[in-house]
Amino acid sequence: MKCLITDAVYPGIAEELKKFMDVKTSDGKPLSKEEMIREIADADVLIMRVDPKIDRDVLDAAKNLKAIGVCAVGLNHVDLEYAKEKGIQVFNAPGLNANAVAELTISKMLDISRHTIPANQDVKVNHIWDKYKYVGRELRGKTLGVMGFGRIGRRVAELAKAFGMTIVAYDPFLKPEDFEREGAKGMGIDELIKVSDFISLHIPLTPETKDLFNKKSIAEMKDGAVVLNMSRGGIVNEQDMYEALCAGRIGGYAADVMENELAGSGLSGNDEFQSPLFSCDNFVISPHIGAQTVDASRDIGLHIIEKVKEVMNL
Ligand code: NAD
Repeated sequence: MKCLITDAVYPGIAEELKKFMDVKTSDGKPLSKEEMIREIADADVLIMRVDPKIDRDVLDAAKNLKAIGVCAVGLNHVDLEYAKEKGIQVFNAPGLNANAVAELTISKMLDISRHTIPANQDVKVNHIWDKYKYVGRELRGKTLGVMGFGRIGRRVAELAKAFGMTIVAYDPFLKPEDFEREGAKGMGIDELIKVSDFISLHIPLTPETKDLFNKKSIAEMKDGAVVLNMSRGGIVNEQDMYEALCAGRIGGYAADVMENELAGSGLSGNDEFQSPLFSCDNFVISPHIGAQTVDASRDIGLHIIEKVKEVMNL
């Protein structure tokens, strides 16, 4: 049996599966579609993250494939229907990166509230040591509005409660008791936007949620309130957000995702990867690192190993 492991996944997967089959890795890099088509031809198992798309061309090239283990939450990149038709089992690791994303959310709340990023820049780059320049706000006593009360949203709420925050939440697919059980108050989206000091988005990007957070939502926010987006770039209308930040309408926008982020993925010094938001001081961004922790990678890897053993009867 042969196993193809692509991209940067938990090294323990290769170590463990080598006991049962021939393992080939891509040295921690994702394959291009052409490379995948070539490499997958004789594989029985594919372990990957989210690149490249596993479409009909790739699945047709895979003559022996029986299982695809995706070391991530989303499965949008796999043609699940066609894989099923071909008898290929596809599995992922739902929920195992929730804590990693939630902790990054809290860190961004603190960064934006305490201006740690410009302060760091002042000291290290500009050699300015001015303790009076950055007066922050504390999280204690503030209201956090969580939009999307799933695995990540609930963990963010749990962590934020430890900071003394009041939690309100919006999720049209849940009942009031689902919020109460987690110590949160469920409410409609309009009310949440009006009462929150921080609004954190943890919803999937779908045609319904595209641009969900826009000029109209921003207009209803409290003065100085902050938006956090660790979910997907397209959920927040970036032009509307840029205008709000320029006008000083809200306190800031902290994100781990951008609408055009794939254009700049893995590239450095790419002049085409631009956004008006980059000129805003109160815009804090990271390059989609929410799930990038050794802990989440290990937990996901261990789960994928168990699933491969189960599916392949090892
Ligand atoms: P989840 O499925 O556990 O929770 C999503 C929640 O959103 C569900 O409770 C669902 O009912 C709710 N929801 C759906 N549509 C909604 C809407 N229109 N308004 C409000 N709520 C809505 O998913 P999760 O694991 O918590 O992940 C949430 C999102 O975070 C993912 O869809 C993904 O886009 C993003 N994510 C980002 C990273 C990262 O690295 N930054 C990592 C993992 C996930």
